[in-house]
Amino acid sequence: MKKLLSVDPARIGRPPGQASPDAVPQEFCDGTPGPLRHALEQLLGPERVLHRLVDLVRYASDASPYRLIPHVVVVPHNEDEVAKILRFCGETGWHATFRAAGTSLNGQAQSDGILIDVRKYFSGIKDIGDGGVTLKAGTGTILFHANAHLTPYYRKLGPDPASSAACTLAGVVANNSGGMRCTVFQNAYSTVNALTFVLASGTKIDTSDKDAERDFQTSEPALAEGLIALRKEILADEKLVERIRHKYSIRNTHGDRLDAFLDGKTPLEIFRRLLVGSEGTLGFISDVTFNTIEVPAVTSVAWIAVPSINDAISLVPDLVAIGAGAVELMIAPALRAAGEAFHGTPEYWKTLDLQAAALLVEVGASDDESLTEKQARIMHLTDRVTLLGDLILTSHAEAIELAWQVREGLLGLIGKHRPLGSLLITEDVCFPPRLLASAARDLQDLLQKHGYFISRIRHATRSSRCALRNSRPEANATTRFPFARSKAESEFRTLASSSTT
Ligand SMILES: Cc1cc2nc3c(=O)[nH]c(=O)nc-3n(C[C@H](O)[C@H](O)[C@H](O)COP(=O)(O)OP(=O)(O)OC[C@H]3O[C@@H](n4cnc5c(N)ncnc54)[C@H](O)[C@@H]3O)c2cc1C
Repeated sequence: MKKLLSVDPARIGRPPGQASPDAVPQEFCDGTPGPLRHALEQLLGPERVLHRLVDLVRYASDASPYRLIPHVVVVPHNEDEVAKILRFCGETGWHATFRAAGTSLNGQAQSDGILIDVRKYFSGIKDIGDGGVTLKAGTGTILFHANAHLTPYYRKLGPDPASSAACTLAGVVANNSGGMRCTVFQNAYSTVNALTFVLASGTKIDTSDKDAERDFQTSEPALAEGLIALRKEILADEKLVERIRHKYSIRNTHGDRLDAFLDGKTPLEIFRRLLVGSEGTLGFISDVTFNTIEVPAVTSVAWIAVPSINDAISLVPDLVAIGAGAVELMIAPALRAAGEAFHGTPEYWKTLDLQAAALLVEVGASDDESLTEKQARIMHLTDRVTLLGDLILTSHAEAIELAWQVREGLLGLIGKHRPLGSLLITEDVCFPPRLLASAARDLQDLLQKHGYFISRIRHATRSSRCALRNSRPEANATTRFPFARSKAESEFRTLASSSTT
């Protein structure tokens, strides 16, 4: 608590305008306003409408740092009820937001209008096809549960956000979430095979139905025509096509997926793809069929500790060429903290030089022989750097579990062990893999210039991501801090855009 309160927020500055009060406004003290509550109770039945003050407050927060108090929370049990709510919004002007597990980090699952809780009544596995090659499930299904159903087939879903134990397939699809081992080829956009969706008009389409395309075009002619017109407009501009292709060849999850207009040729093919990553703005997704991915039969992990970040980065391209499924760079302060916090981590972590860094590498294969061959190549590769500890490529389940626990726990540890009075900032940026080493060096220079340091760089095949877990001592910041930060940010954006375009 002491450290949390040690940062002086006045130094960060605040946006212009009135501060919003933290207290729940007077208008909500009796819960949902009467007319809205009664209209929805008539429409759906009283048991579907959560209207008490305590309901509104408990749904006002999600995993993000924001808070919006909904006017009412509704809990539909089926697609028809969702359609009724959407129609009600169209007729009355109320706006609505879907909420699944609420683990989104940017306020996507909050509303100051009608919040529609769609987690509980849309869950369940519907079909596992072709020996685990496809999985169809209600979108309220927790990702971890879906994967548990695939375990006997040695398969899993491609998207793997660190929130897998809590988040739902709805959130994964609507946010196009990815994770530590998820590549652009394994994210929801690339692995969703079919969807059932409901539009604000009430139109319901299961894209796997043989007449789905015809039904979509008949029910939504203006939408279908508009999608094709946009596709033509994009295709007529070669430069734009090239730019869109380039942008989505790395992890770029912002905004609607413009490559849907290139990948889909018919209105429904385009719209199905646009729904992925649409954050619930285009329609309600009730079930989803994924193409699953193979889980390597054998896997091993290793920590490669070296004297500097540059040494670590220099190994990344070759590790990727060997076929490493994940390569994560971590800096010494974080590892020292992990050495103290996690039982079973290497002893030498506790005394690592502060300039040192380590790579967590995971490599998988279809059999022991090819795994051994990959391990030997990794050993050989590290001959060119000074190793600060023994290089152990382990396939023990507990050691693999521990390695990823350390990785997942690092952000909290960095926050906990940051110097008193300093800030921790998290930013995710992506670079094409071939630019990772130079981008990391440039970023390091830029951040050091402004008193920050990088704590983690992640590589996922074909899309490299620098997660800047920056800690900046505030001692010299005083009123310069906002300037220093915004200057660093704008230089950083220039750097990122010149590297990604
Ligand atoms: C500890 C932690 C770790 C995380 N790690 C990662 C990570 O590694 N990678 C990553 O990408 N994200 C990560 N996240 C963010 C988040 O967990 C994921 O994006 C997750 O997929 C959200 O799922 P959810 O079920 O919580 O969805 P919610 O947050 O409830 O909703 C997400 C969005 O989907 C919309 N939505 C919900 N249901 C539907 C529906 N049925 N139809 C249409 N739209 C709908 C909502 O309106 C909202 O816009 C993390 C979050 C936490 C808290």
